Amino acid sequence: MFGRVPKKSDNTKFYEVLGVPKSASQDELKKAYKKAAIKNHPDKGGDPEKFKELAHAYEVLSDPEKREIYDQYGEDALKEGMGGGGSSHNPFDIFESFFGGGAFGGGGSSRGRRQKRGEDVVHALKVSLEELYNGTTKKLSLSRNAICSKCKGKGSKSGASSRCYGCQGTGMKITTRQIGLGMIQQMQHVCPECRGSGEMISDRDRCPQCKGNKVTQEKKVLEVHIEKGMRDGQKITFEGQADEAPDTITGDIVFVMEQKKHPKFDRRFGDELYVDHKLSLTEALCGFQFALTHLDGRQLLIKSNPGEVVKPGQYKAINDEGMPHHQRPFMKGKLVIQFHVIFPESGVFSPEQCRKIESVLPMRPSKHLTDMELDDCEETTLHDVSAEEVKRRKEQRQHRHREAYDEDDDDDESAPRVQCAQQ
Ligand SMILES: [Zn+2]
Ligand SMILES: [Zn+2]
Repeated sequence: MFGRVPKKSDNTKFYEVLGVPKSASQDELKKAYKKAAIKNHPDKGGDPEKFKELAHAYEVLSDPEKREIYDQYGEDALKEGMGGGGSSHNPFDIFESFFGGGAFGGGGSSRGRRQKRGEDVVHALKVSLEELYNGTTKKLSLSRNAICSKCKGKGSKSGASSRCYGCQGTGMKITTRQIGLGMIQQMQHVCPECRGSGEMISDRDRCPQCKGNKVTQEKKVLEVHIEKGMRDGQKITFEGQADEAPDTITGDIVFVMEQKKHPKFDRRFGDELYVDHKLSLTEALCGFQFALTHLDGRQLLIKSNPGEVVKPGQYKAINDEGMPHHQRPFMKGKLVIQFHVIFPESGVFSPEQCRKIESVLPMRPSKHLTDMELDDCEETTLHDVSAEEVKRRKEQRQHRHREAYDEDDDDDESAPRVQCAQQ
């Protein structure tokens, strides 16, 4: 009654087994099978049932005729078509057809072929603030290990290698030594004879290009695109470009931006640019204008508003002249200018000039002291104390305070809590 109407799952199982979409090409099928079969090979401790399943799925899907029947009518239809026998091939034969006899190198040595991942190579990339502002491309020449093109990474001319005697093909050696009465220390280290590969290549069979190393040094030029607004510490990754090694998924080359200190501009809070500018006292009081050369070479005219007085240490900002935003480079942060007012040196004004200056400056806040008041005062002398000296003393005091605080902490747990509550 139901005839040949397949259940839905009937014609998807093989694809699922191989982990590929129904639209997978022959190439994709091949790759998927290869990877999964290596992983699940019973010689390597894989599940024999899974291994068989993989071979069967691949056998069907790799044959266009069988694949069509399977796609249309499912697995049962194939069984009928093949005389009820189902899978006709030994899964090991299918596997061998891919890799030849030496699937795992060294005549089935116990070292797995399971692919490990190679290490990532991380480079610091020094960039100037100009480069981060404008964006740039840097060409970098790197040398790396590449699979030997002559022997395809086998290391030998014939492709054959034998198991290393030193380590029985494990690549590791274990040494034991007695370290005390009845105590034995076991140490595992990389086999020095085969350098951990577990296999030996005879001298005359060695590949002449790589001398049996399986890899050769290669020069590679990478173009690193530094986008506008990138930040210090940001990474640019070149996937699979690091050192190649046999049976290894090649790691990435990663560049980490390291911004060089700029003599003039300081980048802060992501997209803000800070710049210091010195004003003479006259400019601070009576107005100023100057040209500021930006990171792209533009000259910005910076000027005070009429009647404006700039105080020492004061900040002023210009919108949209900071760093470009990384994701939206057409948007920029603020450019913040901190003004420092340079006062004239002592002794430059004559008493006559002082009287003139005083006549235009705001009135003194305090009244003159009377003679009687002066008589009641003691004479003192002012001397200079540098800002550095004050800073140093402050730090010393904070240090001492911290030490005392730590002691408190040890003795009485409630002490810091009280301190916090007071703040
Ligand atoms: Zn070679
Ligand atoms: Zn060895």
